[in-house]
Amino acid sequence: MRLGTREQLVVLLSLLLCIAVLFFDIYSAMGVAAGVPYVALVLVGLITQKPRFILVLATLGSVLTIAGYYLSPKGITDNDVVLVNRALALFAIWSTAIVSYFHLNKLAKLEPLATTDQLTALYNRHYFTSELVKQINIWKRYQRPLSILILDIDFFKKVNDTYGHIAGDYVLQELAKICQAAVRDIDTVARIGGEEFSILLPSTAVNGAMRIAERIRKETEAFSFNYDGVRFRVTVSIGVAELTDEEWSITEFMKAADDMLYKAKNSGRNRSIAKHIG
Ligand code: GH3
Ligand code: MG
Ligand code: MG
Repeated sequence: MRLGTREQLVVLLSLLLCIAVLFFDIYSAMGVAAGVPYVALVLVGLITQKPRFILVLATLGSVLTIAGYYLSPKGITDNDVVLVNRALALFAIWSTAIVSYFHLNKLAKLEPLATTDQLTALYNRHYFTSELVKQINIWKRYQRPLSILILDIDFFKKVNDTYGHIAGDYVLQELAKICQAAVRDIDTVARIGGEEFSILLPSTAVNGAMRIAERIRKETEAFSFNYDGVRFRVTVSIGVAELTDEEWSITEFMKAADDMLYKAKNSGRNRSIAKHIG
């Protein structure tokens, strides 16, 4: 398992905490209170937002709480009091850990709902925008090319009117698969509107983006949609743009691709058009 920076920080903080509390357990008369500070392990673990991490830290805290009982100097405090306090410490550690575990698990289940489009399982507009902000910042720092595609189904209203809304939904799902299969893992494919998809292509200049757009367009054109035994074909128009201007906001970058999409629609549909192709 590879640990991220956050996890590494938590491991470091946890180790420091364990060493400090063990030190007090062994060399001081802290027998009564020791154990309780291990609850802090669970709280530190919350920084990782990982449920399994919490359980590992709670187990570590419990082992040290019990070990501390045997290692701490005896006879300073009434043994029954020490035992009760250690038991209370274990209770505090596990009640905190269990509440945190279930809470984090619930959050983990909710996260995909906030970033994913339910119909196509692609990312939603909200996630796409956040990824776009991130990639624009990377572009500004490293000057690696960054391109965007905006795709719109041609005469989709007619598909709905002819074959029904459910068949239209099926087209959106199949098209999502075609787009996803045409790109790399690092690309972000999102459904940004009813029948509009957008694809963010890091480290890709306009010529490369145009090749991907054409691949998607041709595969869609060749695909035989089959809904409830009825076969039909659908085409798409795609606008392509590369980020070239430091001053562009997200809106302006997307507008550059949207303008090209508009051009593709006006020049007959079923085509990809790129801004400033070299
Ligand atoms: P154009 O070639 O100019 O893009 O024509 P169009 O008919 O595709 O464009 P228009 O914007 O007129 O129609 C878009 C249609 O997309 C209208 C709407 O009913 C349909 N639509 C939007 N979201 C969904 C959806 O989630 N499911 C289905 N089945 N249809 C949708
Ligand atoms: Mg549209
Ligand atoms: Mg359309």
